[in-house]
Amino acid sequence: MIFSNDYADQLDLADSLASFRDRFHIPKHTNGDQIYLCGNSLGLQPKSVKSVLQQELDDWAALGVEGHFHAKHPWMPYHSELRDLLAENVGAKPVEVVAMNSLTVNLHLLMVSFYRPNAERPAIIIEQGAFPSDRYAVESQIRFHGFSPDDCLIEISADPDSGLIPTYALENCLREHGHRVALILWPGVQYRTGQAFDLKAIADLGHFYGCQVGFDLAHAAGNLPLQLHDSGADFAAWCSYKYLNSGPGAIAGAFVHERHAQAVLPRFNGWWGHRQDTRFQMGPEFKGTPGAEGWQLSNPPIFAMAPMRASLEIFHEAGMPALRRKSLALTAYLEALIRQELGDVLRSVTPDDPEQRGCQLSLQVRAGRDAGRRLFEHLMQSGVIGDWREPDVIRLSPTPLYNRFSDCLGAVRHIKQWAGSA
Ligand SMILES: *Cc1c(COP(=O)(O)O)cnc(C)c1O
Repeated sequence: MIFSNDYADQLDLADSLASFRDRFHIPKHTNGDQIYLCGNSLGLQPKSVKSVLQQELDDWAALGVEGHFHAKHPWMPYHSELRDLLAENVGAKPVEVVAMNSLTVNLHLLMVSFYRPNAERPAIIIEQGAFPSDRYAVESQIRFHGFSPDDCLIEISADPDSGLIPTYALENCLREHGHRVALILWPGVQYRTGQAFDLKAIADLGHFYGCQVGFDLAHAAGNLPLQLHDSGADFAAWCSYKYLNSGPGAIAGAFVHERHAQAVLPRFNGWWGHRQDTRFQMGPEFKGTPGAEGWQLSNPPIFAMAPMRASLEIFHEAGMPALRRKSLALTAYLEALIRQELGDVLRSVTPDDPEQRGCQLSLQVRAGRDAGRRLFEHLMQSGVIGDWREPDVIRLSPTPLYNRFSDCLGAVRHIKQWAGSA
């Protein structure tokens, strides 16, 4: 009897991560908490964010410029305090990661180094239906280098029946076009369908055909336990306002594999990428710091980094393996409830195989797009927060840090209510 308060409450009671919910501000709906299933879009605020930000405000007020060295967390090396947490979070070595800029900016900066097209190899592969910003970015990169997206942007389409992209589709494409492909830019988790990919398999495949391989981990970071170093990817970038709960427009992450740490790659430089020990000699000649930090341009925004630090500390405490275990159980519970109670109302476009997905379930209303839109509005008004992705997908993402099994049950109750009255 999975569709009962008792059942959901038992699961919540047995949940060893349940107490983490108290570390977050849960938005309110009428008298209670919202059923917030939207961590894929904007993660909730850790309560600790206020005090870490206040600390920086206080240090700025009390110390002025001296805060660079004497703040509680000195601003000069601030990014290096984040580095280990960030590396742990995505399964990278500290030298391979840096928090800087925002996601699309990082994609561009990394493509400056890793998209080096020539007449023989001018093409980029992405998935069809990629997040618009990624598509705009790669298209403009192709044009910037004097090529045309018409023949240099290759988009791999999903299987028409399942809506998913099997790895062999990429393999087939590479067999045909691989010799012309400079770069594969692939998602860790596809934003619309929630399909998760085997990063190592994709990186191996790309490298076999002589391509550079980069990942956009916007929907994967903080959602799946990543092994970025072992994946062998050349680079990766991700935002941290989604599963990583670092606040709207938060500072983003970037990864450059260790094998490029010392390499002299073409790059856009700024003073913060200069070696730390001689940066303040203010010499005219750029000497890059090894690793991902060499891609930094500007001195970092402390007020943007402080929330990320608070959030990554929570991830560190909970641990990605434990979070993943709970995540698997939460999403499986939501899926089972939907199958049992709403099988004739909804269908999921997200893979059934838990290995091929994170938290997110992408749902379509069988009665069609208009009904889907009405259901979405109904849920929002009822305090069940998901999001809508055109043309017809409702995304619901129970996240293991602050969602409960009873949230899944509550969401399904509201959908049943709507279906019963529609
Ligand atoms: C959320 C998301 C973005 C957003 O880009 P920003 O530069 O952070 O505004 C880009 N790409 C993907 C795949 C996303 O999911």
